[in-house]
Amino acid sequence: MVIGGGVHGLSTALHLAKRGMKKVVLLEKRYLGSGATEWSNARVIPQHGTEEMLKITSKCLEIFNNFDETIGGGGDPQNIQTGRIWSGSEERVADMKSAAADHERWGAKISFLSREDLKEIWPGEINVEDLAIAINYEETSYCNPMATVNAFATRARQFGAIIYEDTEVTGIKVAGGKITSVVTNQGEIATPVVVNAAGLWSDRIGRMAGVDIPIKVIRQEVTFFHPPWDFSPVIPQLHDTVYEVVYGPDRSGLINVYDRYQVAQEKLTDPDTDNHEAAQESVTLNMKMMIPRFPAMARASFRGGPTGAYDMTPDSAPILGVVPEVEGFYLDCGWSGDGFMTSPLMGDMIAELIITGRTTFIDISRFDLGRFARGEFLVGPWYSPDADVAEKLNQRRVNLSLPDWMTQG
Ligand SMILES: Cc1cc2nc3c(=O)[nH]c(=O)nc-3n(C[C@H](O)[C@H](O)[C@H](O)COP(=O)(O)OP(=O)(O)OC[C@H]3O[C@@H](n4cnc5c(N)ncnc54)[C@H](O)[C@@H]3O)c2cc1C
Repeated sequence: MVIGGGVHGLSTALHLAKRGMKKVVLLEKRYLGSGATEWSNARVIPQHGTEEMLKITSKCLEIFNNFDETIGGGGDPQNIQTGRIWSGSEERVADMKSAAADHERWGAKISFLSREDLKEIWPGEINVEDLAIAINYEETSYCNPMATVNAFATRARQFGAIIYEDTEVTGIKVAGGKITSVVTNQGEIATPVVVNAAGLWSDRIGRMAGVDIPIKVIRQEVTFFHPPWDFSPVIPQLHDTVYEVVYGPDRSGLINVYDRYQVAQEKLTDPDTDNHEAAQESVTLNMKMMIPRFPAMARASFRGGPTGAYDMTPDSAPILGVVPEVEGFYLDCGWSGDGFMTSPLMGDMIAELIITGRTTFIDISRFDLGRFARGEFLVGPWYSPDADVAEKLNQRRVNLSLPDWMTQG
């Protein structure tokens, strides 16, 4: 029994059925993809704070790049390779070089770019004077999240999985330390195995089984801008750490811009009642952050702020695997903003864990729930730079302004 029809639940159901498990059932309380997945930028970026996650993401890139052979079934995640540039000012050079060295050692394909290279990518458009480092994660891509949902769901059904939408899990029964059944708004279903892939709701599902899952549901506001007609698209994607703003292309020709520092400010939300719209202050801030880097974007027009949320864990790493206190309860949640890119392989790893008791691609035991009680943090709180780096970022942001013509009536 898989709870949650996002990319993780669907990938798990698909792989359980593909590996020959009978009676695989997935329950989704609304419609497939209607959690964080629907709002996802769906980027696949081999740049992580742990070796395991980077290796999983690199493997997922291979899967997305060869979807017909790996997942099959006729679906198409609409994967487009763009690369992604990680750029910073002088005070970031040492820590970015050190992180990039780790990423390269763990298998990411990176290249260092000069200011001239950046000017060639965005001729006449980019200001580079304050940039002292720029690293391209060349294999980075982005997909269409709902096309991926459709592809996973179709393939899962082809292998025999049964998917129920509009079916809300309201309780989990446990007897003698073992899962016995799941209660839904449509009735009760006996099962010895439950996978909690409920994303933003995974703490609620945990409580139903008497398990405390430490996630916070934190908004990530995204803004879309229509660039001026003479502006080239933001390809590669750009993560500009000078302001902590991220730019990416969108299939419709708009530019997707978000504040990567926002999650650190913990705008908590309830995923059942969130309005999914970026606040005006975010629209203004993102606009202000674009202009010093790409002055032409002062002529961009705002085209909406579709906003989702992350299921953030205390160390920004996912919570995976068994729960020793409740036999049959498996966790695949707490993806902390990185859940799309890991989904095709992670579903297979959770399926393998359920069927064989272990994962072969990589040992995920460090990602267990028990690590928090043991005080073993894997990455760290979201964006926690040295105090002087944070101070410089804050100062730069305070000094930003909109052009006069935008603020005068
Ligand atoms: C703005 C934004 C941008 C992002 N960009 C990226 C990115 O570029 N790359 C990346 O890798 N990740 C990104 N993410 C994160 C990524 O989208 C998520 O980590 C991923 O989609 C999580 O998938 P999931 O299947 O774990 O959870 P979800 O998609 O949240 O699915 C959980 C499902 O469980 C269902 N559910 C909940 N409770 C119940 C219940 N009681 N009974 C039945 N069903 C239930 C929900 O309705 C939901 O459909 C982004 C997220 C956001 C918000």
